[in-house]
Amino acid sequence: MSNYSIDTNCVQAGYTPGNGEPRQIPIVQSTTFKYSTGEEMGKLFDLEAAGYFYTRLQNPTNDYVAAKICTLEGGTAAMLTSSGQAANFFALFNICGCGDHIVASSSIYGGTFNLISVTMAKMGIEATFVSPTCTDEELNAAFRENTKAVFGETIANPALTVLDIEQFAKAAHAHGVPLIVDNTFATPVNCRPFEWGADIVTHSTTKYLDGHGAAVGGAIVDSGNFDWMAHKDKYPGLCTPDESYHGITYAEKFGNAGAFITKCTSQLMRDFGSIQSPQNAFYLNLGLESLHVRMQRHCENGQAVAEFLSKHPKVTSVSFCGLPGDPYHERALKYLPNGSCGVVSFEIEGGREAASTFMNSLKLAAIETHVADARSCCLNPATTTHRQMTDEQLAAAGVPAGLVRMSCGLESAEDLIADIAQALDKI
Ligand SMILES: *Cc1c(COP(=O)(O)O)cnc(C)c1O
Repeated sequence: MSNYSIDTNCVQAGYTPGNGEPRQIPIVQSTTFKYSTGEEMGKLFDLEAAGYFYTRLQNPTNDYVAAKICTLEGGTAAMLTSSGQAANFFALFNICGCGDHIVASSSIYGGTFNLISVTMAKMGIEATFVSPTCTDEELNAAFRENTKAVFGETIANPALTVLDIEQFAKAAHAHGVPLIVDNTFATPVNCRPFEWGADIVTHSTTKYLDGHGAAVGGAIVDSGNFDWMAHKDKYPGLCTPDESYHGITYAEKFGNAGAFITKCTSQLMRDFGSIQSPQNAFYLNLGLESLHVRMQRHCENGQAVAEFLSKHPKVTSVSFCGLPGDPYHERALKYLPNGSCGVVSFEIEGGREAASTFMNSLKLAAIETHVADARSCCLNPATTTHRQMTDEQLAAAGVPAGLVRMSCGLESAEDLIADIAQALDKI
C-alpha cells in the first residue's frame, strides 16, 4: 500500500481481505492458536518460522493495525503495546540496560519524564535532559561513552515545543546511537519523523490515532535505517546471540529492517506482557480510518482558538506553533507544513485561580486528563499530569503553574470560541 497517499493508507493499509473474507478486520478473540504437530509449533518458539502461538506475543488483529501504522510512518516493522507508556519504555529498554545512558529532550510528556528520570534510573539507566532549543554544542556535550539512545517528542505534550528532528538525529548518529521520536501529537498525517532522520517512532495511540477516547494503546515503529551491526559493541542485545532463543543474533537473522521489533516482541513482550487487546486494536483501527480527515479539522479548530486567545486581554501568552509569533513557528513551517495538532496551551492572567475559574465555567470543553479526541477538553498540567515535578522542572519543561492545555476537538470552531469567550468573561 506504500505507493498510495497517506489518506488512502489511513483507510485501507494493513489488511487486505481475500475472497469471501470479512471486509472489516476480524477481531481474533483467542489467546492461543492451534497446531497439528509439536514440531511446527517448536519452530515458532525458535523464531525459525513466523506465526501465532500466544496472544501475549502476537495476534493477527494487532498485526493488521500495526502494519497500517507502519505504512503510515513509512517504517519496516511495527508492534502495538498496551499503552503509550509501554511503547516508550519498550523502545528505550530494548536497547538500554543497567549502566547505560539516555539523552532526552527536557520538553516531553510528564509520564515519560517520570519513566526516564525516576523509574529507569532505579534500573540503573541514567539520563541527561537537554532543552529543545539547545545548541549543537550543548546537545553534543550531553552524550557519554555509555549513551545508547536519544529521545524527544515531535510536538511535546503539553509544552507544544517542536523538536528539531534533524538536529537531534544528526547528533545521535554522530555518536552512533538511534533517535527515538514520540510522534503522538503530530501523527504521521502531519509529520513523518523518519523523513527527517529519526530511527524509531513511538505513539500513544490513545490520542489522535484512536481519536475517540475509546481505548488506551501504544505503538512502536522501526524505520529499518539504523545499522546495529555497525555499532555492535553498543548493542550486544541485538548483535550477539540471545541465549533465551537458542543463540539467535537478531541483527543478523532479521537485518536492520526487522531486528528491533522482533527482539522487542520476542523478549520484552514475552517477559513484560504489555499487550494491546485485539478488541482495542479494532477500535484503534476504526479511528485510523478517519485520521487524515480528523487531523485537518483538529488543526483548523486549534488555529482558530489560538488566534482568538492570542488577541484576548485576559490571556498573557499562547503556545501554538501555527501562530506566526510562536517561538516554534519556523520549525513548524519546516516539519509540520500542513498543520500541527489541535492542542493549544495558554496562560491566563491571574495564575492557578483564574485558570480554575475559567475551566470550571466551560460548557463544551470538559476537564479531563486527556487530549486529542473528538470532544474538546482541557487541563491544568501543574496540578494534574505534571504534579510530581518541581517548579524548576516545570519551568524546564515549559509548563508554568498557571498553564491551561486545551485540546480542540471536532466541534464547530464558532461554538468552541463562544464557549471560551464566556468562560473568560467569568474571571
Ligand atoms: C499520553 C502520552 C503518552 C503516554 O501514553 P498512554 O497511552 O497514556 O500510556 C506518551 N507520550 C505522549 C506524547 C503522550 O501524549
